[in-house]
Amino acid sequence: MDQRVVECVPNFSEGRDRVKIKQITDAIEAVRGARLLDVDSGADTNRTVVTFVGDPDAVAEAAFQAIARAAQVIDMSRHHGEHPRMGATDVCPFVPISGVTMEDCAAIARRVGERVGHELEIPVYLYEAAASRPERKNLAGIRKGEYEGLAEKLRDPVWTPDFGPARFNARSGASIIGAREFLIAYNITLNTRDKALATDIAIELREKGRVARAATGSAFYSKRNILTYQENAYPCGNCAFVGHSFADTAAHCREAHRYDMEEILRLNDVDPAKPLIGQKVYRAGRFPHCKAIGWYVEQYRRAQISINLTHYKVTPPHLVLEEARRLAAERGLVVTGSEVVGLIPYPALLDAGRYYLTAQGKSPFIPIPDVLQAAAFSMGLSDVSPFDIKSKVIGLPLEFDRGLVQMTVKEFTDEVSRDTPAPGGGSIAALAGALGAALASMVANLWQGKGESPEVEAALLEAAEQAQQVKEQLILGVDEDTNAFNAYMEARRLPASTREEKTLREQKMQDGLKLAVDVPHRTALASYAAMQAAWTVAQHGNESSITDAAVGAQTGFAGVRGGVWNVLINLKDITDPVFVREMRGQCETLLREAQTLLDRVTAHVDKRLGELIETKS
Ligand SMILES: [Zn+2]
Repeated sequence: MDQRVVECVPNFSEGRDRVKIKQITDAIEAVRGARLLDVDSGADTNRTVVTFVGDPDAVAEAAFQAIARAAQVIDMSRHHGEHPRMGATDVCPFVPISGVTMEDCAAIARRVGERVGHELEIPVYLYEAAASRPERKNLAGIRKGEYEGLAEKLRDPVWTPDFGPARFNARSGASIIGAREFLIAYNITLNTRDKALATDIAIELREKGRVARAATGSAFYSKRNILTYQENAYPCGNCAFVGHSFADTAAHCREAHRYDMEEILRLNDVDPAKPLIGQKVYRAGRFPHCKAIGWYVEQYRRAQISINLTHYKVTPPHLVLEEARRLAAERGLVVTGSEVVGLIPYPALLDAGRYYLTAQGKSPFIPIPDVLQAAAFSMGLSDVSPFDIKSKVIGLPLEFDRGLVQMTVKEFTDEVSRDTPAPGGGSIAALAGALGAALASMVANLWQGKGESPEVEAALLEAAEQAQQVKEQLILGVDEDTNAFNAYMEARRLPASTREEKTLREQKMQDGLKLAVDVPHRTALASYAAMQAAWTVAQHGNESSITDAAVGAQTGFAGVRGGVWNVLINLKDITDPVFVREMRGQCETLLREAQTLLDRVTAHVDKRLGELIETKS
């Protein structure tokens, strides 16, 4: 299962008093599962931007606790600072990192907003993806008038808050809570000190684009003649097309170049509704959700294209880099590397790594650290400063920095052998399944791109993808199984003096046991998927790898069998008869299918081995 990671970046209206700031961040760190990543205070703005991450529930709780603490320690009636602001907790966005959607984050924003409004009596406005109406999407629009204009704003029915009283709270002001995409700050470095060259490429890349010029003339675009709109002649600016009306040209741009001409004019401060004769023609840049400028950095003694990507799922950094490399080459320039300012989400770097591996004709479904390393090398991320994956990537899978899976094989084996009940059979089942998946992946990757038919290549690639996916899940399972009983053990420690307490404790214990069943059940299912990948590669991989595929199927089966045994032993204390019956039924079916598949792989491999020996003798 993908780990669910949400980032929260609240902005508090206090940037000078260290003690107060610490009280707010302490409230975040006190919540289990919330991890504080960064605290950035500005004295001039009198504002602190805090970054923390965690699973959705932990992040929601930590955000609420921080907002509650800020309401105690900050008095807005005494606040002065250069940054626009409306409340003690001014803005609080939730950002999807991995395993969660934008809609999940909007739901968190609504949940936290409701609590803030109800429990703290602070007016709350929802913005961006959580906005309740279109005119509340934009942060600056909501904040217009700031704290000083808030009392009057709240009297206007148009600005009734989404949650909380429509009453001025002099101490806390109002909070703007919402959900938005992750913003990647990304710089591409050039082998020149000339800022103008970086700017020229930046203008080609950015969504806003540039003033369109004649198709012919100087080799330097900026030296050619500027195009303007004339009576009955509306040039496209990208190609030779000239429309009879602006509507013609706008339709052409939508179809041929896939952008909204009116939007591009607006981005360049031109109102498309006004008469356009004599107006300069603009053409869009290469990438939507992309802002870019050129600058010179004394420290590196080189010019950079400085980029903000506001929707990396639509416009990912590696594609912008590749286009920059192409545009640089056209201008006799070289991109020496690139740098991530702040953090980059795990899925963005993972996609980049897979993009470059695929381009090199390699399998993109290799271990995650190798994929991320491929991205870092291909993008030249260590060009101007060191790029440490662990500290620069947000939302890395758990096994990157802790747990049993960080041990050496010897340490882990020793740990199992000690006189402690965990790690035990459940963890070993998950490890067996993971090893089965790893072997299937190995065979698939070995015979990738070795001239077999396209069908075989496709089947092997699919097996590699599936095997890597279940391998990652099963590696997490090694630690998960050891922790599976935590919820049950916590419930057992609950008080049980009154009848209500006893009922609640029993309920929580039963919930904990169901979780302890769920973990090995998922191990069994994933291990079966590992066996399926092993079966695919046993059929399509080269015969010299056939025993690797067979061992993969066999250890995968140990994962299924071990997982099912662990389900059954935990089922015995569950009192819900429907749950017990259904789970037993599912396990029986799974076990039967796994046994059939194992027999099939074994028969196939033994037959092939027999044939190979006969041809030799
Ligand atoms: Zn055109």
